[in-house]
Amino acid sequence: MQQISGTLWIVATPIGNLADLAPRAADILATVDVIAAEDTRHTARLLTHLGIDTPRLSLHEHNEADRVPQLVGRLARGENIALVSDAGTPLISDPGYRLVAGVREAGHVVQTVPGPCAAIAALSVAGLPTDRFVFEGFLPARPANRRTRLAELADESRTLVCYESSHRICATADDLGAVLGTRPITLARELTKRYEQSVTLGAERLPEWLAADSNRQRGEFVLVIAGAPTRPAAAAGEISLDALLEELLPLAGTKKASTIAARLTGVAKKTAYARALALSE
Ligand code: SAM
Repeated sequence: MQQISGTLWIVATPIGNLADLAPRAADILATVDVIAAEDTRHTARLLTHLGIDTPRLSLHEHNEADRVPQLVGRLARGENIALVSDAGTPLISDPGYRLVAGVREAGHVVQTVPGPCAAIAALSVAGLPTDRFVFEGFLPARPANRRTRLAELADESRTLVCYESSHRICATADDLGAVLGTRPITLARELTKRYEQSVTLGAERLPEWLAADSNRQRGEFVLVIAGAPTRPAAAAGEISLDALLEELLPLAGTKKASTIAARLTGVAKKTAYARALALSE
């Protein structure tokens, strides 16, 4: 394949099924001078499968800043470089942003070989609106921070896409149920792999669905969350304040529960607090 010299190629790789690698991706990986990989040993397995022995170097979140000048220097000497991550599209919840910014700033060409991305794959099967969506990446790992972030996102009317790991899927599902109630969520798990599964449930039913079979808690997950219904704030507040407080009160104190409920419903803090006190009695 003909390449303009001094190009950085951003190459998407499979998220499970190796047959999903694009033929052009294989050509680029075989012909560049070096492949910058998030984990060189992980990428070695893909390259062995393809019969490619292009030299590799590591580029991960801890060394990316140091790698940028080094790789820009190689592009300046006319070398071609491919960037890959462990799976899917580099830069999407993966390293590479600093490299791409640095390479563009230095005036070199950046080109894409598009392909698999778990967020887009999940959206395409979720059956939730896709005309407008927000990609949130991973929600915060700390429970308090995660709940705060979810409360901030609860009014978002666009479809929301989040990544989650097997370590936190149950805790995140509990929080989603508490904050979002009956809002539909599609959980897409192990996409393109042997145990691929996707299910759409009301948020409050997700914890129970996961608990019913420990296999459902394994692997890699994308959560596609229906956007908030667009209703006048006052009407939304009247309808959902009690339901929301009933979900929040077992998880948080009266003050915190009412603060979150007030923010989500548009009801005054004082009103939400008085209602929370009444419900707690
Ligand atoms: N860059 C990747 C992409 O384009 O999708 C994402 C990398 S991020 C570090 C890894 C997360 O992506 C996983 O924790 C999971 O949430 C999601 N993911 C990756 N592969 C997946 C798959 N086959 N099925 C479901 N989710 C997946």
